[in-house]
Amino acid sequence: MTTPVGAGLDTTRTGTALTVSRLTAGHGLLTAVHPVDLHVAPGEVLALVGANGAGKTTLLRTIAGIHPARDGSVRLGDTDVTPLSAHRRARLGLALVPEGRRLFPELTVAENLAVAASSGRRGRWDVATVVAAFPQLRDLLSRPANRLSGGQQQAVAIGRALMTNPSVLMLDEVSLGLSPAAVDLVYASLTTLRTSGVTVVLVEQDLARALEFADRVVCMLEGRLVLEGTSGDLTRDQVTAAYFGLAGTRSIPAAGPPQEQP
Ligand code: ATP
Repeated sequence: MTTPVGAGLDTTRTGTALTVSRLTAGHGLLTAVHPVDLHVAPGEVLALVGANGAGKTTLLRTIAGIHPARDGSVRLGDTDVTPLSAHRRARLGLALVPEGRRLFPELTVAENLAVAASSGRRGRWDVATVVAAFPQLRDLLSRPANRLSGGQQQAVAIGRALMTNPSVLMLDEVSLGLSPAAVDLVYASLTTLRTSGVTVVLVEQDLARALEFADRVVCMLEGRLVLEGTSGDLTRDQVTAAYFGLAGTRSIPAAGPPQEQP
């Protein structure tokens, strides 16, 4: 069973935090993202899953403006950010925690956080609130990033993105390379921050974790979204079948934004 992207949206939430329309991107001759349509509601947590090479990273980087779009548009709330640079999108509230975390290795945790604050918006997130959400960072603020464990680095990377006070936070491969205990810690903090109202789009390889944590799951296969549903409606078998492109999976037709309920 597949449904149009956006159809599973919780219509009690008003408006759309992120609207991706017919977004297309590639690398040289390769089209890595075929026209993709995606709507994410304010405060929603959306998991993007798919096999290696499905196009998840290219999609997130194109939404963030780091990778050029070949076609299509990206709206952040009511603002069309398609013509804007990644830096200007960040200033408007669109943040990406990249795969591999990309911290400044010689800078301390506090310095990594401070650098981000200057490129974002003002809001509830500062060093104190980031440390409250990620208590494991409390005693590490003066430690260089290259002397942290993988889980600690991921916490700093997410904290750094939060320092820009995003309305939409995108996280690429949030648990990649972390121990199970470190993944648990990161997700405990993500659970805390979802109560802050930030909209989250996360790439997660662990399907069970994605279904457990997200409100909605979309699956990408060879550059296309092939399955979408609320976590409560989708089974792990359905997601696994879509993930591997097994029979019954088909491309999702383009959908408009969700309609208001009468
Ligand atoms: P992974 O989980 O392995 O990161 P992904 O779903 O994020 O995979 P992408 O990294 O977006 O997928 O890759 C999509 C396609 O684009 C793949 O075929 C990949 O080989 C190709 N690709 C990605 N980056 C580049 C690049 N810099 N140059 C050329 N091709 C690339």
